Amino acid sequence: MNVGQLMHLTDSSKQIRVGVLGFGGLGQAAAKVLAPKKEMVLVAVADKKGYAYSPQGLNAQECIAAYQSQGSVGYLDGFGNLTNRSIEDLIESGYPIDGFFLALPNLPNDFIPSVAQQFMKSGWRGVLVDAIKRTSAVEQLLTMKEQMQTAGITYMTGCGATPGLLTAAAALAAQSYSEIHRVEITFGVGIANWEAYRATIREDIAHMPGYNTETARAMSDAQVEALLDKTNGVLTLENMEHADDIMLELAGICPRDRVMVGGVVDTRNPKKPLSTNVKITGRTFEGKISTHTFILGDETSMAANVCGPAFGYLKAGMGLHQQGIYGIFTAAEIMPRFVR
Ligand code: NAD
Repeated sequence: MNVGQLMHLTDSSKQIRVGVLGFGGLGQAAAKVLAPKKEMVLVAVADKKGYAYSPQGLNAQECIAAYQSQGSVGYLDGFGNLTNRSIEDLIESGYPIDGFFLALPNLPNDFIPSVAQQFMKSGWRGVLVDAIKRTSAVEQLLTMKEQMQTAGITYMTGCGATPGLLTAAAALAAQSYSEIHRVEITFGVGIANWEAYRATIREDIAHMPGYNTETARAMSDAQVEALLDKTNGVLTLENMEHADDIMLELAGICPRDRVMVGGVVDTRNPKKPLSTNVKITGRTFEGKISTHTFILGDETSMAANVCGPAFGYLKAGMGLHQQGIYGIFTAAEIMPRFVR
């Protein structure tokens, strides 16, 4: 199938019915990103205490209002359901949903892989997208490749900002070189308050010396605040265990030990502490050593750089699924498709 046929296939198909699992910082941003889209419609959202479903499409602002004022989208008038098994209940409902963005915390480190297992067991077929971050979490998902193929699921992993947009940029930039020497990702994140992105901040703390996913998960909100007080709200992260490395290795670009990820997160200021960038250094066929740098605009938020790519990869995943291509793919091997 050529590109023209592929575009026609997606253009002529119906709106993609999307579910968002997890309705914290990224889940709510995802709902807002989808609101003006013509090719996708948000039909389901779930948080820890409930879910909401509407085949005609949910109103992002109403979902956000229910979540923020009452603590769950399960309170949404006419569409909400309160349940402590929101993901299971939504999957088992059998509602027609084409794809899900998993905007869930990956705490413990096998939580998102366990959700993938639930989908496979349920008999649901479609596209799943995550913005998962750790190498060891992606490794767990990769072991499920054959199960996903059998289940008829096209799973797109590592499709946020990093891993995601920046990993894909590295894969593209690598094409100028015969050999890749180093890929260095440095992210700057500015958020007004850490409570808007609790899982993201806990998962970042888990990369600090002396912490891991289990200790970070066990921290109370007061303990997180006490830690942030000590650092003036700033987390500086180096040599992170980030799946950009395994994704670039799998894509055949460079061995994982040539990929470095670090960054600075300011939890008290929406202004980015530094410009997020990826530097790709390599040797050209003429023997020249050079570095390509891709810098994200400082005005683009973490949410914009995660949710945009996540839906771009969901659309790409739908194209694969419609052709009967199932299994697991990363952001470094598939081009995202712009969602109109
Ligand atoms: P958050 O803490 O703001 O929200 C998490 C949401 O998940 C909440 O709505 C909560 O109710 C829901 N939830 C928790 N357990 C659940 C369960 N068992 N069933 C149903 N819902 C459940 O999270 P966030 O800060 O938006 O982060 C979400 C994820 O995105 C994290 O894993 C984070 O690491 C990842 N992330 C990735 C990137 C990237 O570039 N790849 C960037 C930022 C964040």
